[in-house]
Amino acid sequence: MSVISEENVRGGSVFKDISADDEDWQPTEIESLCMNCYQNGTTRLLLTKIPFFKEIIVSSFSCANCSWSNTEIQSVKSGGATEELGTKITLNITDPSDMSRDLLKSETCSVLIPELEFELGMAALGGKFTTVEGLLKDIKDLIVAKNPFVCGDSGTTDRVQKLNEFGEKIDKVIAGEINVHIVLDDPAGNSYLQNVYAPDPDPEMVIEKYSRSFEQNEELGLNDMKTEGYQQEN
Ligand SMILES: [Zn+2]
Repeated sequence: MSVISEENVRGGSVFKDISADDEDWQPTEIESLCMNCYQNGTTRLLLTKIPFFKEIIVSSFSCANCSWSNTEIQSVKSGGATEELGTKITLNITDPSDMSRDLLKSETCSVLIPELEFELGMAALGGKFTTVEGLLKDIKDLIVAKNPFVCGDSGTTDRVQKLNEFGEKIDKVIAGEINVHIVLDDPAGNSYLQNVYAPDPDPEMVIEKYSRSFEQNEELGLNDMKTEGYQQEN
């Protein structure tokens, strides 16, 4: 983070509003070590402001050598990776236009689609700045296209059929043929879903803030940190 001067952060002049369609980003590029193959890769740092959310630093690493990539999101305001409270965002998808809502999924965010009995754990997709449609396509890609049960020898007909059915349902959600809820549950509080009615409340979206459990703090590695004012639960 040393490449970004405090003055720039405080002055706010480097921030601009972004959307996932915006190709006019001007990230700072730094050569850095790939944690996968230990060759040199590139980290792109982008300081940006999401309207009605907050100022964030998006740090995307990619390695030309082994193709490994990773995206991390940090909050500028809290000066670290974690908000005071966790956030659970529930969107009721009712219209095809919901697909173009901007979506920021931090690397600690789980994704749930209750109607499809689907849950994606926090580490599975990494951090992403995308749209609802982009996230659904990534989920389909991960669950169906890249699934060893579909591609490999170990696949049973029954299992493959279920995964393919899941993929077809995702396609129908994207096409607006079936309505589902998408839940973004982020104990670090760094995930965001665009409210298209902002600054008014979004009738189809519920945002719940919650205090993390001891276990969730444990998962985020926060119990080891000596943060002033932080009380460990007993
Ligand atoms: Zn690499």
